[in-house]
Amino acid sequence: MNITFFGAAQQVTGSCTLLECAGKYILVDCGLPQGNDEQESGMDLPFVASSIDYLLLTHAHIDHSGRIPLLIKDGFKGKILTTEATVDLCEIMLADSGHIQEMEAEWRSRKSRRAGRGSVEPLYTVEDAQEAMQYFEPCAYDTIIDLGGGTKVRFVDAGHLLGSSSIEIWLKEGNEHRKLVFSGDIGNFDQPLIKDPEYIDNADFVIMESTYGNRLHRKPENAVGYAVPTSVRAQELADIVERTFLRGGNVIIPAFAVGRTQEILYLLRVIIEKKLCPSFPDFPVFVDSPLSVKATNVFAGNIFGYMDEETMALVNKGVNPIIFPSLTTITAVEGSKALNRRKESCVIISSSGMCEAGRIKHHLKHNLWRPESTVLFSGFQAGGTLGRSILEGARHVTLFGELIDVRCEVAELHGISGHADQSGLIKWLSSFKEEPKLVFVIHGDKEVAPWFASFVSKTLGLRAYAPEVREHFNLLDEATFPAAKKVDESVLSYLRELSEAVALLKKEESTLLSVVSRLEAAGREKGIDEKRAVRLTNAITRLASDLEYLQIKWGADPD
Ligand SMILES: [Zn+2]
Ligand SMILES: [Zn+2]
Repeated sequence: MNITFFGAAQQVTGSCTLLECAGKYILVDCGLPQGNDEQESGMDLPFVASSIDYLLLTHAHIDHSGRIPLLIKDGFKGKILTTEATVDLCEIMLADSGHIQEMEAEWRSRKSRRAGRGSVEPLYTVEDAQEAMQYFEPCAYDTIIDLGGGTKVRFVDAGHLLGSSSIEIWLKEGNEHRKLVFSGDIGNFDQPLIKDPEYIDNADFVIMESTYGNRLHRKPENAVGYAVPTSVRAQELADIVERTFLRGGNVIIPAFAVGRTQEILYLLRVIIEKKLCPSFPDFPVFVDSPLSVKATNVFAGNIFGYMDEETMALVNKGVNPIIFPSLTTITAVEGSKALNRRKESCVIISSSGMCEAGRIKHHLKHNLWRPESTVLFSGFQAGGTLGRSILEGARHVTLFGELIDVRCEVAELHGISGHADQSGLIKWLSSFKEEPKLVFVIHGDKEVAPWFASFVSKTLGLRAYAPEVREHFNLLDEATFPAAKKVDESVLSYLRELSEAVALLKKEESTLLSVVSRLEAAGREKGIDEKRAVRLTNAITRLASDLEYLQIKWGADPD
């Protein structure tokens, strides 16, 4: 009875864990790695696809489902079990992912041919994605499914995305029985639209996410228990819209087309209905993504059984919770381009959520350099993605081969996160009545997952461990289990400070590059106007003071 961690191990993306029990192979999630995780792990599947009997899928997000078409292409002939809503969402999301893969391969091929090399094959195509759908078998929540040979599974609502689940798995090998619980992505409490995560009370092994294991979404004094009421979230968003529009800019929201986009629409409907933006009561909102439009339809079709009480109360009154008169959805490319020629301020929601692909990149290109606009992040940004560098304060970024200054306001909506924060994760884990033998902490950054594992052992007294990619364990051989690591608090605080210093250095590196390129440009033009000289001097002064701060804090002792 073995477990192998093939992805999201000290990483956030590319979820993929393999179980091997009594000659049966069960995969839990088959996600696409993004950003640094892609560089680290590569895209190829590190096992024989044809040997897998079952794939159990926690939810439709691409970092959990994105390599399913590749799995089929590589020879998988088993069954994919997941909830009905996840099947519906995967149908549109995997096809969209296939489209992105095709576009990317085409772009790379053009480059490669210009350099005298051959063309680049896409990871998979739209057709591969469509082909994959015949392997899906929809399952109901809270129902035990017998896979034979003593293996059983049950999907439980994880409150993270429409159809998202935690999965309970019962395994049997000889006379040995073990129960595993995969948390999937654990939802935030009191999110708009969907239900809260459900609790599970027993397991021998828990495999849990830790995306925000080191963070609280709200300062404790602002949180009402764990709940942030919709009105508070709506007000936070309304304030950002109001101040951006007063400056004459746009609010650009990169968002997962599925889930996050619909939650933001829900808040925007509340804002307009309650007139929370006094100067712009009926401001225009554009959802620019063909995928979002399709996903919004899936949401509409799955309202019963999935939505929370607040949403159901609206539906019963005849109100569509995510539609309002000043909302326009755009599918055609022409309409998308026309948005960038608009003079009046507007809110634009577009994907992808981490700014790595899709139409959002065009909207960033047209707004990042405008001090009057705001780029508003509403979801987790993985390391190495464009979204993360903007969020961490990059002073300029490269888009479509062009250097773009970042002068807009960069903001983050914390309350709307799709993931439980540290307190939510601990609350979820505390629901286990008997101590699990071992808690594997996955789906968290390199700095976060091991830290959260030690936090779990310290606060709950459980044995917890954050595995690395490709690490594997025999679940029947307790003697080989990793010991709970004791992490020294002072070391941790140094590590945190050090990572802050590194972030600051990264930021200053980009400033320095931008100053150099501007000086070069000025040199070419043989002259520099006064305003520009002042801006450059300011940038250099900021740079110098940051460097001085780092020198004082981390530099060698002068004695
Ligand atoms: Zn997710
Ligand atoms: Zn995830």
